[in-house]
Amino acid sequence: MLKIWAVVPTCLPLLRRRCHACPSERFQASGKFRVNANHKLIDAWLLALCAACGETAKITVLERMTVRSIRPELLDRLHDNDPGLTAELLQDPVVQRRNRIALDWDNAWRLDTGGTDHLDRETIDVSVRFAARIPVRPVRLIAEGCGLSRAEVDRLITEGKLVSAVRLSGKLSGDFTFTLKR
Ligand SMILES: [Zn+2]
Repeated sequence: MLKIWAVVPTCLPLLRRRCHACPSERFQASGKFRVNANHKLIDAWLLALCAACGETAKITVLERMTVRSIRPELLDRLHDNDPGLTAELLQDPVVQRRNRIALDWDNAWRLDTGGTDHLDRETIDVSVRFAARIPVRPVRLIAEGCGLSRAEVDRLITEGKLVSAVRLSGKLSGDFTFTLKR
């Protein structure tokens, strides 16, 4: 029996970034953009707020770009404070590197197993698909999705009853499959 599981975001992740005004290291995207045009050059930022004190941080989206080099659709979305654009930009590796931010996905995702009809099967093949690059431990997903304890999952791996081409004990943020034989 082949099952498809999905790891899906439930809200925006927090940004890991040190606050200049307090000891906090977490920011929340405000959902608002600021666009500044100066002599045909455009800067754009995503505004984020410190999760503890509310201090504003500017996450650079565009830096001194000529108007002509920017897709009009992107400018429209920036001016409209498009919520989908916030999610896209936070996950953009270029934006992450430029601003030296990483994402904190704790409590911002869920596992969708599409029902519990797999729980009583002797053998299941599961394809796990990620709707966003959310780093999770496969052993944790499997425990949750199969109604097992982490210790039981570890035992099944040791006994060769839970197999995968990927290392299940590490962290992953991309699609993988596993087979469980009980
Ligand atoms: Zn702060």
